[in-house]
Amino acid sequence: MLDKFIHEPRVAYFSMEIALKNEIPTYAGGLGVLAGDTLRSAADLELPMVAVTLASTAGYFRQSIGEDGRQTEQPEPWEPARVAEPLEAVVAVTVEGRRVWVGGWLYVLKSHMGGTQPVILLDTDLAQNTAEDRQLTQYLYGGDQCYRLKQEIVLGIGGSRMLQALGFELRQYHMNEGHSALLALELLRRYSYPPEDLRPGESPYDIRRVRELCCFTTHTPVEAGHDKFPYEMVKDVLGEVVDFGTLRQLAGAQTLNMTHLALNLSEYVNGVAQRHAEVSRQLFPGYRVHNVTNGVHPFTWTSPPFRKLYDHHLSGWCHEPELLMRAECCISDEAVWDAHIEAKQLLINEVRNRTGVALVPECFTIGFARRMTAYKRPDLLFSDLERLKAITREEPLQIVMAGKAHPRDEAGKQLIELLHRHKQALGGAVKLVFLPGYDMNTALLLAAGCDVWLNTPLRPMEASGTSGMKAAFNGVPQLSVLDGWWVEGCVEGVTGWAIGDDTPTANGNDARDMYDKLRDVIWPLYHRDRSAWIAIMKGAISKSASYFNSHRMMRRYATETYTR
Ligand SMILES: *Cc1c(COP(=O)(O)O)cnc(C)c1O
Repeated sequence: MLDKFIHEPRVAYFSMEIALKNEIPTYAGGLGVLAGDTLRSAADLELPMVAVTLASTAGYFRQSIGEDGRQTEQPEPWEPARVAEPLEAVVAVTVEGRRVWVGGWLYVLKSHMGGTQPVILLDTDLAQNTAEDRQLTQYLYGGDQCYRLKQEIVLGIGGSRMLQALGFELRQYHMNEGHSALLALELLRRYSYPPEDLRPGESPYDIRRVRELCCFTTHTPVEAGHDKFPYEMVKDVLGEVVDFGTLRQLAGAQTLNMTHLALNLSEYVNGVAQRHAEVSRQLFPGYRVHNVTNGVHPFTWTSPPFRKLYDHHLSGWCHEPELLMRAECCISDEAVWDAHIEAKQLLINEVRNRTGVALVPECFTIGFARRMTAYKRPDLLFSDLERLKAITREEPLQIVMAGKAHPRDEAGKQLIELLHRHKQALGGAVKLVFLPGYDMNTALLLAAGCDVWLNTPLRPMEASGTSGMKAAFNGVPQLSVLDGWWVEGCVEGVTGWAIGDDTPTANGNDARDMYDKLRDVIWPLYHRDRSAWIAIMKGAISKSASYFNSHRMMRRYATETYTR
């Protein structure tokens, strides 16, 4: 099985989470879905890669929501043996001075177009490990800081040793977030000169060679997304991979900052949208931060009715999504509207099956779904309930929401509770549905089945955001704060609408601006000028989806990042 993947040099793609498919719960949110879309596009485009991640066998979690809106979490275990083959190699890493054996699984990601990419799922659940170490690859983003450091040893050091043991020849190592930065440290150890070859005082490490092999994508400006470990812990848990003097130079004098380690050992560094690259340059002065704006995988994020439409009118769109720019002139208004109503009906059916609530196809519907956390402000739409009700006095409004809060993000959980209180307060005037268990399937149903996709992050925290791109593939325009990809994607009144201006820190007037736009622009257009509305749906397809897709993203990584 592995033979067909090791005959040509590949790019190793490291990520703590990868959304391989809906049934495999090894992802928590945007980063994992992006990693999955990266590999799906690489498979379609036949770019030779190999992905490395943890098996996360306990799954992220299954979300239940009580009557009061309280989230509870259950494990969502999965069995790699059902979909993947055991690897023949086992490698060792050192954790707290003892040996931890790392084995794993080969999952073959298959493109709907026939391409494949190998994915290595690292697994320490081996008989030769202690009971505690056997759990190291179970919980995605679970446990304490020490557990996280151990996981990052398995991912970075274990992962690169595993690739070597399996016989992969690697052109580049692509680190996504600092989680896997220990791999660069492992390469530094691997590419060092013996003492007898050194002049007095000369460093044994071939930093230049490692930098040429490594590239690094930072995915968030949110502080908590950048791991830092105290050196006391690093000494105990990791030990000396390279000497501590060198480590402190590369990773920070006070704490081991994984982002700094990755920045210093990568020749190419990028952010995931233009605005995010600018923000990252301010966060990390002295580094050259490029930009490769994110995208979503065309086939995966297009609902069946729109797939059919594009297949018929824009044959080849799955390989060359640029063809979607022709949607404006090549697809009739009726065909776009019919496909939309079909997608909306799929969402309505799902909502009825899962909650018993009967949504109405003719009723204007706002969608909002993403990780439930404070900076994404899921409550902004409800910050003035009277205004919201006033807007809907003549025509009714439906709102469908979904999203998981990280088990330890209490503020995020309270936001879900708050949404449930708003639901009560709104009574019958506005129908609000919260769908529990946000996953890839729900994401597609929602992004395709609403009339407007709403996005209200606190600037400049949303590095890119991708769910609005999924909406665009389905002709659903976005109403969004100008942050992340929307700074590039928004053409006012053509691809959707902006909330506020693009000053990176102006957030105060967003609620007022959002209500104004809903009342004065969106509402009249939807209810009184259907053909102008459909023109905007087509604008989202032809101007956003044709560009903000992972094929364009991967062609850029292939020609600009993976070229050393
Ligand atoms: C696309 C997606 C996300 C990311 O959405 P954002 O808009 O970037 O926050 C998170 N979770 C799931 C399940 C998704 O499909």
